[in-house]
Amino acid sequence: MIQKIKELSQEILADSIELRRHLHMHPELSFEEKETSALVASKLEAMDIPIKTNVGGYGVVGELKGHKDNGQVIALRADMDALPIEEMTNQPYASKVKGVMHACGHDVHTTSLLGTARILNEMRSEFEGTVKLIFQPAEERLPGGASLMIKDGVLDTPRPSAVVGQHVHPPLAAGKVGFRPGMYMASTDEIFLTVKGKGGHGALPHACIDTTLVTSHILVAMQQVISRRADPTKPTVLTFGKIASDGGSTNVIPETVYVEGTFRAMDEKWRDKAHQYIKDVAHYTAKSMGAEVELEIVRGYPFLYNDPATTAQMTDFAKEFLGPENVVELPIQMTAEDFAYYTKEVPSCFYRLGVGNIERGIKSQLHSPTFDVDEDCFKVSSGLMAYMAINRLKGM
Ligand code: MN
Repeated sequence: MIQKIKELSQEILADSIELRRHLHMHPELSFEEKETSALVASKLEAMDIPIKTNVGGYGVVGELKGHKDNGQVIALRADMDALPIEEMTNQPYASKVKGVMHACGHDVHTTSLLGTARILNEMRSEFEGTVKLIFQPAEERLPGGASLMIKDGVLDTPRPSAVVGQHVHPPLAAGKVGFRPGMYMASTDEIFLTVKGKGGHGALPHACIDTTLVTSHILVAMQQVISRRADPTKPTVLTFGKIASDGGSTNVIPETVYVEGTFRAMDEKWRDKAHQYIKDVAHYTAKSMGAEVELEIVRGYPFLYNDPATTAQMTDFAKEFLGPENVVELPIQMTAEDFAYYTKEVPSCFYRLGVGNIERGIKSQLHSPTFDVDEDCFKVSSGLMAYMAINRLKGM
C-alpha cells in the first residue's frame, strides 16, 4: 500500500505545486477566503466527493467514503487563510495581492489535503470507513475558524474518532515530520491595561499620581506573582510588548499609561486563576499608590493537547511511511493554534511538516515576509495523511 500511495503522490506532484503556487499568488485574509473556498469546493466536486459549504463561514467539508462503511470516521484538517504581510520573496509565484501573504503556509496545508483527497479517492476500493476533509477558514484571527466550524457541527454526524492536522515547520527539512504527544502549544490571551493617575510637572511628583511608576510596579509584580504561582512543570509565559502614554516627557508625568501584553499557558484551570492574579495585582497595586486601572483580558485559543494514544499511532504510521529516520520528536511551543479547539472535542493529533532547506536558503520563520517552503514537501504531505487515514480506519 505504501508503494501505491507513493506512486500516486508522484503522479499528482506537479499539479500540487501548480495549485500551491496559484493559492500563494492569490492569498485571502481570515474571514475573506471566498475564492479559496470556492476553488476547494470545485476541486472536491470534480472528484465526486460530497461536500458541505459555508460551514462556520467559508469552511468546506468533504465526506469521502471507502468501499464499505465500517463505522469508523477520521477527520483531516487544513486551514486556508493568509496574513496581512507584504511578501518579499521575489519568487515568480509571490503574492499578487498587496499586503496579503501566505506567510504561515496555509496554502501548503490546503493543497496537501486536496492531494490527500485525490489519493484516497483513487484508493476507495482499498479502505473502509469515512474520511472527513475539513477545509477551515480564519485560523489567524479570533475567535478562530475552528471554533466556528465546530459550532456549525463539523464534528457531528458522523463524529470522527480523531482529528489530524499538519502544519509547515521551517526548522525541519522537507521530507521529515515531527510529533509531540501531550501538551504541545499554548493558550493565548491578550492583555490591555490602562493606568490612570494625575499628570503634571515632573519636578512636582507630590502634586501628581505618577502613572509611569505605578505601571512599572504593576508589571514587575505581575511577572513575580505569575512566576511564583505557576506550576513549574507546565510552561507559562507573560510578556508585555507595548507601553505607551498620552504624553509625558523628561519633565512631564503623563495622565494615562497604556500597556499591552500576552499571557500563554498549558492548563485551562491555571489560565483562569492567572487571569484573576493579573487583575488583582493591577487593581491592588494601583490602589495602594493612588492610581486607577482598567484591565481587559481578551480570551484567545485554548492550549493544544495532542492525545497521547492518537499521536503515538500517527507517529508509528509516519515511521512506516517515511522511515523512522524522518520522524522526530518536537519540543513544546508557546505559540498558539486554533486546532486546539478540535483537541478539546475529540482525541486529536497536530503534527509538523518539514518544509525547510538550508542549502537552498529556505529557512525564514513563519509570519515573516520572506517565508517560503521547499516544494519537495508535497512528495510526503499528501501521501502521509492518506496513509494515516487508511490505517486509522482499520480500527484501533
Ligand atoms: Mn498557521
